[in-house]
This record gives sequence, structure tokens and C-alpha cells, in this order.
Amino acid sequence: MEKISIIVPCYNEEESIPLFYKETEEVKMKDFPETEFEYIFVDDGSSDKTLDEIKKLSSQNEAVRYISFSRNFGKEAAMLAGLDEATGDYITLMDADLQDPPSLLRKMYDMIKNEGYDCIATRRITRKGEPPIRSFFARCFYKLINHISDVKMVDGARDFRLMTRQMVDNVTSIREYNRFSKGLFSFVGFKTKWIEYENVERVAGKTKWSFWKLFKYAIEGITAFSTAPLIFSSFIGLLFCVVSFFLILFIIIKTLIYGDPTSGWPSMVCIIFFVSGVQLFSLGIIGQYLSKTYLEVKHRPTYIIKEKK
Ligand code: UDP
Ligand code: MG
Repeated sequence: MEKISIIVPCYNEEESIPLFYKETEEVKMKDFPETEFEYIFVDDGSSDKTLDEIKKLSSQNEAVRYISFSRNFGKEAAMLAGLDEATGDYITLMDADLQDPPSLLRKMYDMIKNEGYDCIATRRITRKGEPPIRSFFARCFYKLINHISDVKMVDGARDFRLMTRQMVDNVTSIREYNRFSKGLFSFVGFKTKWIEYENVERVAGKTKWSFWKLFKYAIEGITAFSTAPLIFSSFIGLLFCVVSFFLILFIIIKTLIYGDPTSGWPSMVCIIFFVSGVQLFSLGIIGQYLSKTYLEVKHRPTYIIKEKK
């Protein structure tokens, strides 16, 4: 009998978990009579009753396992822990808030089985229920990253996907600390099919993403999958050298012909401000890469497990 592992990262999802489990079990009864399910709930250091809810399910059903972190490590870490623990032949990542409809699982499973794909990934085609400003920046981010990175990232991609064991083994063999899974899934390759659905709103609770968190996540994605900003700052540096070379020539010739009346201080100050701004900006870019490298070489664990079953 084949086994599907369902990995569910949970951070303060006490209300969503029972709803999620109920709906997914219904799908199992209806669509997967011949397949074994394994649930891996990853409690990402929740401060509410999330772990108790998971333990309740686990005592009812042998197939429900859990991992509980010692603190909040973030969704990326939770997904990795789940992938590390999963024992199924096929592995799926799903949010606890039912934004990833379990009813799609059968279709995804059939596509892998019958059409020879290694991974079925999902993207939402609408961003209904999301603040427009957030959608705008998300779109800009995907445009930018696809320009500057070799790894393709799909706009509106969700983490909800069904993968073969082989693909998951390759994803988990990448042990980098600054994880940006959407990029890693694309990086490992394999035949991926994208299916689309309309955005579904959360069943309960609130989104864990603030604008600032998303911004940091976007920077993470860029530094993890592109060095274009470094090239950009080198290019600006070079451009300024060339411009200043011609300016110096111009000033020397002008002085030789017209003498040197002291003027032009305001423009001088503007230039100093502008150039030092560009320098700081470039230093900031280098600093971003350096800080990521710093975290990487420390080899700290991505997550710490307090208890599991
Ligand atoms: N999540 C997590 N750790 C975190 C933040 C979120 O495990 O630090 C989980 C959360 O419980 C949910 C999933 O990641 O199951 C997606 O989170 P959310 O619904 O807040 O994100 P959105 O769907 O709004 O992108
Ligand atoms: Mg959600």
C-alpha cells in the first residue's frame, strides 16, 4: 500500500487544526480508500493550544505524528523538519488554515501516477482578500527575481505541492540555513506541473505575515538565489569612475582656459551627498550577502525539536 505524508506547519493554529484534520480525513475516506495517510504536524513553537490539539488527534489516530519545536523557528524550518521526518512515498506540504484545499489531492496524485510528473505544484490565480499594496509588491518581487535569478519562481506559487520521495530526498539534502523553499524546489529540478486555483481565505485565525516579514522574506529570496545586486553595485561604481574621469578632464581644461574663480560649492555638496549615498547603498548590498554568509558558516541547526512522535 502506498503512503502519502501530509506535512502541516502550524504556528498558533488551535482553531484551524481540528477543521483541517476533519476535512482532510473526509478526502481520505472518499478519494483515497487504498492509500495510507501519514500526518506530520509541526508545531512551530506555538504559544496557544496548538500542541494539545495535535496530541488529541494523535491519540485518536496512529497515523497522526507530530514534531514540536523548542521555539518559533519560522515556516521554512517547520517545512524542512516535516520533510526530514516524512516516511511516505509521496509527500505533500499543506497549510493548517485550509487555504490549500485537500480536495485537490486526488487530482495531484493521479497526475504524478499517470502523467509521469515528479511534482505537482499549485499557484493561486487571484489574490482576493489580500491588501492591494501587498499584491503590488509581491508582483514586483516575482518580476525582479525572475529577471535576476537563473531559478524560475512562479508568481502566486504556494507551498502546497505533492512530491515524490526522490524529489524530497534531494530537497532535504540541501542543508543551507537561509532557506527559501520556493527557490529550492525549483533548484532541484524534476518535472513539475503547475495547477491553478482561486485564492481561498483562511478558515480561522489570522495570517502570520506582516508587511515587514514579507519584505525580509523577499530579501532572503533575492540573496539566496541571485548575486545580481552585487554586479549592479559594481556596475554603478564603474559608471561613476568613468563619469568622474571625464568631469576631471573637463575641469582641468576649463581651468586652463578660463582660470579658477571659486564657485560651484552647492553642486559640490550635492555630488558628495549623492556619491556617499551610492557608496552606502552598495555597502549595504555587500553587507546583506556577508550577513547571510555569516549565518551560513556558523552551521547552526535550522530547527530544534523539543518533542516528537
Ligand atoms: N507558520 C509556521 N510558522 C510561522 C508562521 C506560519 O509554521 O512562523 C504556518 C502557519 O501556521 C500556516 C502556514 O505556515 O499553517 C502559512 O501561514 P499563513 O497562513 O499565516 O500564511 P499565508 O497563507 O497568509 O501566506
Ligand atoms: Mg494561510
